[in-house]
Amino acid sequence: MATETHIASRIVCSMDPATGEVLRELPCASDADVFAAVQKGKSAQKKWDTIGVRDRIAVLRELQNQLHNKKSIVAEAITRETGKPFAEALTTEVLVVLDSARFLIENAFRLLSDEPLPHGNLAAKLKRGRLVREPYGVIGIISPWNYPFSIPATEALAALVAGNAVVLKPSEFTSLVALELQSLLHAAGVPASIFQVVVGNGATGAALVHSQIDKLVFTGSVSTGKRIAAVAAERLLPVVLELGGKDPMLVLDDADVDVASSGAVWGAFMNAGQTCLSVERCYVHRNLYEKFLQACVEKTKKLRVGNGMDSATDVGPMIHERQLRIVESHVEDAVSRGARLLTGGHRLAEVGQNFYQPTVLADVNHEMRIMREETFGPVLPVMPFDTDEEVIALANDSEYGLAASIWTRDNARGEKMARRIQAGTIMINDVVSCFGISEAPHGGVKSSGLGRTHGRFGLQEMVRLKYVDSDLIPEMKKVWWYGYGAIFARQMQAFIDSQFARSWPQRLRGALLSAGVLRSKRL
Ligand code: NAD
Repeated sequence: MATETHIASRIVCSMDPATGEVLRELPCASDADVFAAVQKGKSAQKKWDTIGVRDRIAVLRELQNQLHNKKSIVAEAITRETGKPFAEALTTEVLVVLDSARFLIENAFRLLSDEPLPHGNLAAKLKRGRLVREPYGVIGIISPWNYPFSIPATEALAALVAGNAVVLKPSEFTSLVALELQSLLHAAGVPASIFQVVVGNGATGAALVHSQIDKLVFTGSVSTGKRIAAVAAERLLPVVLELGGKDPMLVLDDADVDVASSGAVWGAFMNAGQTCLSVERCYVHRNLYEKFLQACVEKTKKLRVGNGMDSATDVGPMIHERQLRIVESHVEDAVSRGARLLTGGHRLAEVGQNFYQPTVLADVNHEMRIMREETFGPVLPVMPFDTDEEVIALANDSEYGLAASIWTRDNARGEKMARRIQAGTIMINDVVSCFGISEAPHGGVKSSGLGRTHGRFGLQEMVRLKYVDSDLIPEMKKVWWYGYGAIFARQMQAFIDSQFARSWPQRLRGALLSAGVLRSKRL
């Protein structure tokens, strides 16, 4: 049961991080509310499953249409609650969801259909096998604030099209965007009991984990993910965990410095660095190091920091004071251990209380917190390297393994190196945008998580796989049933020889000797 530790606050407060304006206060769902929502989803889910994939795809088409019509309204709601530039809300949230719907509309029917499973084993040739995909029932989704629309929506669309009901517990900082998603889905034809939002804080999330959901898709920090995994283990609740990252960017000696520095600046500062796929560690070959730093500093100084609703803004505010303090402490630690602060390194109180100046640090090393812990803020820490071997070791020297990027004019070299980097995704000559490729699986290794969202592997996470096997001659007893004895054992040895012996004469002999194995069984 969810416990009485769930006391903290009974209200969540939605704020504009750029101005500090309170947008709305909402009551937290109680444990009983959460359990009731899950129960309601369970009762309605069978009917939703019964309507079939094609009808659910029609609902997705309508959702796509509604979202397209309301794209600016939705993007504005995202900017208000997160502070990110309006253009980023359009590209990294609205567009991602429209395209994710496109992927499911085009592929869900095929990917969810039964699949024949031919047998290679001669002993099983008289059987027909098939794979059947069934929805879990109710999928719980717990999501973070940094992509408050695209993360829960892409997960929910996959869960819904597969025939599940969904109960979403959004971040306490971005409840309004989640409610916007709810109204879009309901308007598109998803029944109210099939997609429900339970607004609340960590305690509300904990109640969802303790409820009768059939699977959980969690996106958030490693520490919360581990806590959730421990609770889930008690009843073997299946979980997908999309956790933090400390993504390395490897700029090889043949990279285009202008392109790579623009990529680094965008990858480190978009969404004010609050992206799980952000460039959090940048390694540059020593031959390019000073030139690269100079280009990054020039480009960083040109960035316009401000309110995301202003179309001139490149970098918005951070989400809250706690996140700012983490960034400050990482920068202070790095500078105190010898890092060079090339630009930034302080708050921009004149712009607003949550703004931090985009920061470039040089000469960092792995002793510093900024190269080990997730910073999740607008900081680009850069370190030189001399050889490919060295940079691969540096990239892999991390608890995390979400994504990485390699920058080189030689794609073949980049792809070869990609195989040696421990991460769920490697991009060559780009960064972050893999999240917008609806076909690509998203997820990490090591502490960055378990399982995948997006694409066919993300859809696969939303169904149970069932194997159904039909015997083509129901009247026949199987030869491996009872009726053992010396003759049967000899025949089986011969049968195994007929299938697996290295020499053809031995196989032929085995086939002849085993022919009698097909006699009918006495039991
Ligand atoms: P968080 O872990 O603090 O919170 C995430 C969600 O979990 C919120 O909805 C929160 O209310 C809920 N929660 C908190 N305690 C809980 C508990 N005990 N039981 C159940 N739910 C609980 O993370 P955050 O600050 O919202 O998000 C930032 C983190 O998310 C970063 O580490 C970032 O890297 C990660 N993230 C990962 C991905 C990915 O795809 N891998 C994407 C976005 C963000």
